[in-house]
Amino acid sequence: MISDEIVQLFKDALSDDDRAVTDAVDLAPKLTDWRGRIRGASRLMLQPASAASLAAIVKLAGETRTPLVPQGGNTGLVGGGIPEADGRAVLVSLERMNRIRSIDPAGNTATVEAGVILQALHEAAAAEDRMFPLSLGAKGSATIGGLISTNAGGTQVLRYGTMRAQVLGLEAVLPDGDILNQLTPLRKDNTGYDIKQLLIGAEGTLGFVTAASLRLLPAPREIATALVGLKSPAAALPLMSRLRQATGDQLDSFELMPRDAITLVLRHVDGTRDPLQEAQPWYVLVETTSSVAGTQLRETLESALAEELEKGGIQDAAIAQSEGQREEFWHLRESIAEAEKADGLSLKHDVSVSVTDMPAFMAKATKRIEARWPGARILAFGHLGDGNIHFNVRSDERLPRDRLMELKDEVAAFTYDEVASFGGSISAEHGIGTLKAGELLRLGDPGKLAAMRAVKAALDPHGIMNPGKIFAA
Ligand code: ZN
Repeated sequence: MISDEIVQLFKDALSDDDRAVTDAVDLAPKLTDWRGRIRGASRLMLQPASAASLAAIVKLAGETRTPLVPQGGNTGLVGGGIPEADGRAVLVSLERMNRIRSIDPAGNTATVEAGVILQALHEAAAAEDRMFPLSLGAKGSATIGGLISTNAGGTQVLRYGTMRAQVLGLEAVLPDGDILNQLTPLRKDNTGYDIKQLLIGAEGTLGFVTAASLRLLPAPREIATALVGLKSPAAALPLMSRLRQATGDQLDSFELMPRDAITLVLRHVDGTRDPLQEAQPWYVLVETTSSVAGTQLRETLESALAEELEKGGIQDAAIAQSEGQREEFWHLRESIAEAEKADGLSLKHDVSVSVTDMPAFMAKATKRIEARWPGARILAFGHLGDGNIHFNVRSDERLPRDRLMELKDEVAAFTYDEVASFGGSISAEHGIGTLKAGELLRLGDPGKLAAMRAVKAALDPHGIMNPGKIFAA
């Protein structure tokens, strides 16, 4: 545990605008993850209000060899923002750095601090007739700093890319307490190593992001959204090709859901209803947008789906007739995680393989896991267009939940071996944190891991920045 002396030193290093939290009741929600599965310990949380304050904190941490753990909205799923259970680390919350510093409609950029919540950025961009092209289920809590540090994905990666593709400039505090000042939103900058790219997806192990310049796009004028029923994930791939072709590659989202996911949402989430006439084995939520009015996107989508229906490529489809109906469709998709949580235990595996291989991976891994552990039930859903599926393992009455919990490491290793056999990734969009550090060490490319260790040792020689994350001890 951190000593009284260290607590006092950090308190003395703060300026008037910063906060220190030591009350155990206030700290408790910050020390456990969203699902309540990963628990850490710390007796001190600091809430700096500026990059300069954070720099002073990091300098002191270096001098006293005190580990620091950064935290944004605490919506991560791999324990990246939770201090380790030994209680040696000081938690650093970026939530007080929550100003939208500027929005530049002419340059199509927004400059925001790390603690800005994603939804607040969406709203600020919309007020200037712009959009920020990254969205996900946790948008009401997830912060920009956390989204950058995990290189988050979400439901629009298909067209706009991950968080990395949105970052034009970055401000961060590096492990020696220096401030990396690369906030100017340059579209082009070839002056040697692009250090900010190293920090994106580094989960706070190479520095803490304090602000970012992000790209904006013209706000959409037309949106067409459909919910499609189909027989199998394999049937979804030709549909995706067809729709990309028909819309001029303006397909924002292509989200796959099994019937079980819809059933769970209908059971646990208020205000939801079955979207199609009859239950379908699989569903795809499709959305296409245009910044130009009068392109008749909805008619385009409608006729492409009608053709597919006639050919037998799909089973049924409904096109959203209003913004309300569109929100209903999205509510189904974005409530799956919440419904799973309400229903009980689910072992989550956020994995990617090539888009083409995904149906084969899903079929093979499902069959092998359900055969290996009778009663195990796969719930696989997500971003089929990106080759990224949340391949979650639940169980029926044949496999009690506490038994499934005991099996979690074994099930994860088995799943990741399947992923590896397809040349895929064991973390597509959630990161490594503490949860997957052992599996990264086991399955990661040795050359890449060696280079990662060398970078970490060079930038953070005392190992004070989010220790225990990404790298297994
Ligand atoms: Zn996802």
